[in-house]
Amino acid sequence: MALRDVARHNIGLLESVTMRNAFGLMLASVVTAVVIAAGWFLTSLLRADVAAPQTVSARQAEPLAVAASARSVPPREDVEVTAALSAKPAAPMQPKAACANADALGVSRVVEIDTTGGPGFGFEHFKQLDFLADKEVVLTFDDGPWPVNTPSVLKTLADECTKAVFFPIGKHATYYPEILKQVAAAGHAVGSHTWSHANLNGKKVTEQQAKDEVEKGFSAVKLALGAAPSPFFRFPQLQHAPATVAYLGSRGIAMFSCDLDSFDFKAKDAAQIVNTVMTKVDKSGKGIILMHDFQKHTAEALPILLRRLKAGGYKVVQMKAKAPLQTLVEYDEGLVKDVKLPTVSSRPLNSVVQTVSQ
Ligand SMILES: [Zn+2]
Repeated sequence: MALRDVARHNIGLLESVTMRNAFGLMLASVVTAVVIAAGWFLTSLLRADVAAPQTVSARQAEPLAVAASARSVPPREDVEVTAALSAKPAAPMQPKAACANADALGVSRVVEIDTTGGPGFGFEHFKQLDFLADKEVVLTFDDGPWPVNTPSVLKTLADECTKAVFFPIGKHATYYPEILKQVAAAGHAVGSHTWSHANLNGKKVTEQQAKDEVEKGFSAVKLALGAAPSPFFRFPQLQHAPATVAYLGSRGIAMFSCDLDSFDFKAKDAAQIVNTVMTKVDKSGKGIILMHDFQKHTAEALPILLRRLKAGGYKVVQMKAKAPLQTLVEYDEGLVKDVKLPTVSSRPLNSVVQTVSQ
């Protein structure tokens, strides 16, 4: 507007000067032309300024998604962006591709769990909810994510087109977020197994410490996945601390014990795990099976075990949460501060690291 006024002023000047002499006319014309040209130039500069932030933020979106899967933990804004991005392509997360294995164990039915009030599953400790029919089993895995063993378990489950529930340790989730992402991407439920695998029933554990273990564990899973975890929890060593049971109830988090403990962490080899589980399941006829994707022998045993379950006429029930868990903001933020490496640079990734050849 100011430039236009200057131009108008010069045109006015031009008119008055015309009355006097031709030289004045030329001078005024040149001044007007310069002012108009300057106006165009400044306007195009302003437009470039307005456009610049859009370009920058669009570029930032890609490295943020990469950062979330990297070993270094991203700041909290990254998690939100990643969650927002992953909310759109929901379909590719659980492809409904037909199972390539005609003889796969598969999933016989899917149950949705309303976790309001913190229901307990697994007859080893909870007696109320008996939802499995004869010959039905639920596959559960604790203590991951871990290199080699967790991906091996995921491959076996994929080969058999079946689904499980995973209870990762929070610390492990911060070590290997990319592996935990694979678990979620394969369509398995991901709950939590505390932050550091502490026995919450220990005599020296305060209620506050137990709460911290629970909440930090779930926040670590959220940080790793860039998405909210399932409100499914398993106590380390199946030590059900009464105060924490009450707390989980108030948070609407379901508790998982088990029906069949594989004792895979004690097994000397894969065969022993297969024999333990099959002996127990043949006796009880059904149940929630407790295994560890952290364990090498479990990863080795799983292909054989799933074949044996199929041959024995057992069917896998997939457990899904009705709604994801709302993690607590103070734990999400506290965790980012704890885990993030100290650095003085706040430059975006793409200004620090450039691919120069591929
Ligand atoms: Zn454990």
